[in-house]
Amino acid sequence: MKTVKETIDPNNLVNPGVIINADKQAHIKNLKELPQVEEEVDRCIECGFCEHKCPSRDITLTPRKRIVVRRELLRLKNKGYHPQYKELLDQYQYQGLDTCAVDGLCATACPVDINTGDLVKRLRRENHSNFEIDVALFTARRFVLIYKLVCWALKTGVLVNRLLGAQSMFKLTKALRKFIPSFPLWSNQLAAAEPIPGNLYNSTYTRSVVYFPACISRVMGEPQPGQKGVMQTFMDVSAKARINVIIPQDIQKNCCGQIYSSKGFKDAYHFTTNATIAKLWEVTAGGKLPVVLDVTSCTQTLTHCRSILTEENKARFDQLSIIDSITYIHDYVMPKLRIRHKKTNVVLHPVCSLQKMPGLETQFTKIARHFAEKVDVPVFAGCCGMAGDRGFLHPELTHSATWPEAKEVTADNFDGYYSSSKTCEIALSDAVGKNYHSILMLVDECS
Ligand code: SF4
Ligand code: SF4
Repeated sequence: MKTVKETIDPNNLVNPGVIINADKQAHIKNLKELPQVEEEVDRCIECGFCEHKCPSRDITLTPRKRIVVRRELLRLKNKGYHPQYKELLDQYQYQGLDTCAVDGLCATACPVDINTGDLVKRLRRENHSNFEIDVALFTARRFVLIYKLVCWALKTGVLVNRLLGAQSMFKLTKALRKFIPSFPLWSNQLAAAEPIPGNLYNSTYTRSVVYFPACISRVMGEPQPGQKGVMQTFMDVSAKARINVIIPQDIQKNCCGQIYSSKGFKDAYHFTTNATIAKLWEVTAGGKLPVVLDVTSCTQTLTHCRSILTEENKARFDQLSIIDSITYIHDYVMPKLRIRHKKTNVVLHPVCSLQKMPGLETQFTKIARHFAEKVDVPVFAGCCGMAGDRGFLHPELTHSATWPEAKEVTADNFDGYYSSSKTCEIALSDAVGKNYHSILMLVDECS
């Protein structure tokens, strides 16, 4: 090989020192520094396998770059380059922290299981002042106030649009963002939710479940007038499958805690989740009934909360059965339903949490295939960057993350667009220009 190389490249111009190197010490020279920076990401070998998964890859940083910049920050600090360190640290706030959706999809492609979102969550946590931490805990203890405030804001926004024109709130919030960049941008997919339905009970039904409508479902409704919301759809689908449904009393006070954990508010997250597990223990009569959630990211949060629970709640958690509405449809509802008609061609958006929970994505597509002749899962389906509220605060993230999928979806015509998380449905609806709904809606429409 060396002879061939010397024959065709006698002056060693092509790739000098690479592949075949005459220097016997080459393997221990010019080694790249991989300093220890943060325990969550120190294993990173900077291979870049994670990059294509990241929703911020085209506007700010990829997971690999988020890690590389942390290493560079340490290098600058150690070398005493303070102005450069300060400048890079300032830029990292937006580039690294604000535009990370903390969805953890990077971990699904990483050969050493690094979830850069974990690093981002901790850095966000460390950036909070004591005052911010106290405010978050205050709101967690009075979650019903947040619920009422968001309901009021949504109703007001819809009313303003009705009185002043359909684009009024969008234009108003866009203008406000010039002065207050962190002000959320209005989406015309926003609407207030219907009131929380009452329990469903029929003495002839043999099965019962506890339904925990996520706080997103409790506040956000459907933008099309007359369109049923996810809560009523859940009740109707359950009635068709002859399943009793219990909704916990005062559910407005409860949440899975994702709203706090994603922002790094540890105390508020711990309080909220422990309170929710205690309530679910009570309403399920000690874990006798399964608990169903209607937003997959909330299901993932609640099913992975064990480590932050009190000992008492850990014991309760171990006996609870918490499932997503997808599993509920697949295991409980579908076997009991008669199909009235099938859709011709539907498209799905599998959300990040669904991709991370074993078996759920298969159940999701199986449900769609049960109720539709043709089912499309876009090749470019990925994280939409919405991350609960991040897409309202940084719409450029959602816009950038969704365009490849939107381009693919808009190239075809479908008679149904379905997903399993309300805010991701909003992001995709905005991007594609069609209304995405919960998969529960497909079941309801076809049965
Ligand atoms: S958590 Fe999501 S947004 Fe953050 S680095 Fe990983 S893939 Fe990118
Ligand atoms: S895939 Fe994992 S090891 Fe490779 S660059 Fe990304 S975080 Fe680092």
